[in-house]
Order: sequence, then C-alpha cells, then structure tokens
Amino acid sequence: DNEVNIISGALEFSRKTVKDIMTKIEDVFMIDYNEHLDFETMTEIMRRGYTRIPVYEADRDNIVALLNIRDLALIDPDDKISLKTICQFYQHHLLFVFDDHPLDQMLSDFRQGHSHMAIVRCVNCEGEGDPYYQNIGVVTLEDVIEEIIQSE
Ligand code: ATP
Ligand code: ATP
Repeated sequence: DNEVNIISGALEFSRKTVKDIMTKIEDVFMIDYNEHLDFETMTEIMRRGYTRIPVYEADRDNIVALLNIRDLALIDPDDKISLKTICQFYQHHLLFVFDDHPLDQMLSDFRQGHSHMAIVRCVNCEGEGDPYYQNIGVVTLEDVIEEIIQSE
C-alpha cells in the first residue's frame, strides 16, 4: 500500500543497511542450547527482559535457534528441562541476512511475518583460511521502525 511505499522510499533514499542499525553481536543476550531451564537460568532470562533470544551451540558464533520468551510460559524450573527440548519443539524460524541488506528489504521480510528478528552476518575473508560466515549482530522490527521515525 501507499504508506509502505512512502516509507520504503524514505529508507531507500537514505540507503541504510541493517549493519547501520543492528545491535552488535557482543551486546546480544544469547543462551547456550545445552543449558537447562532451572531457576537460575530462567531468572536471568526474565531479568534481561528480551522477547527474542538467539540460542547458540558451543560457540556464540554458532547460532542454531531462537527462543521466544513466550515459550517459557508453561515451564516449571524444578523440571530443569533442557533448552534443546524447547527449541526442538517450537522450531521458530531463524532468519539470516547479510550486513548490506537494505532496510526497505528488511522491513518487507519482517512483514512476511515469520520472524521479527534477523541475525546479521557477513562473509569474513580475512586470514589464511577459506572465507566463512560470521554473525555480527541482530536486527529487529523495532530497530527498523525506530529508523523510520527518526528519518521523518
Ligand atoms: P518486544 O518489544 O517485541 O517485546 P524486545 O523488547 O525484546 O521485543 P525489541 O523491541 O525488538 O526487543 O528491540 C529493542 C532493542 O533491543 C533493539 O535495539 C534490538 O536490537 C535489541 N534486542 C532485541 N533482542 C535482543 C537480545 N536478545 N539481546 C540484545 N539486544 C536485543
Ligand atoms: P507481539 O507481536 O509483541 O508478541 P502480540 O502478537 O500479542 O504481540 P501485537 O503484535 O501487538 O500483539 O498486535 C497484533 C494485533 O493483535 C493487533 O491488531 C492488536 O491490536 C491485537 N491484539 C493485541 N493484544 C490483543 C488482545 N489481548 N486481544 C485482542 N487483540 C489483541
């Protein structure tokens, strides 16, 4: 519709990419796939207050799933259920985008409705070895909307 076109136009004009607005990976609250949802872990998750939490396996660079705070609604900390079990049950769509992904495109991806968070990655060609994908941040619908409001 028309409003979306206006917004997209504004974003296109500014030529911003997800890299310009993302939350840097070192500032992202994540949890380990092999952790158990005991009282301590659940308290920490609630204390942080984020709705979407990337889940990594072994290494923070290896994001394998996404936890939504809602997934914890029926969990009893005394059961110490593993996060792995929860992730396998819900299997939330994990969206990856490259760091040069334009904001109008990002908005349209979010509007498709599968997810309101994307993991931002780049191709790292530094060093001796083969190039590899490196996660450098996360971007949410909120970040894109904030950028729209600012640019008005
Ligand atoms: P909601 O508003 O849908 O409940 P939220 O408050 O958890 O979600 P957003 O509103 O989507 O998060 O984003 C607010 C800011 O927090 C954004 O800058 C976003 O990049 C950042 N953010 C979101 N999730 C995380 C996370 N797990 N760790 C660090 N920063 C995050
Ligand atoms: P979130 O996306 O942050 O998890 P949500 O999916 O519960 O939240 P919104 O995305 O804020 O809700 O809104 C989606 C639509 O549902 C909106 O049209 C909103 O007005 C409507 N809505 C939100 N909460 C309720 C509610 N308790 N009862 C009926 N409609 C609601």
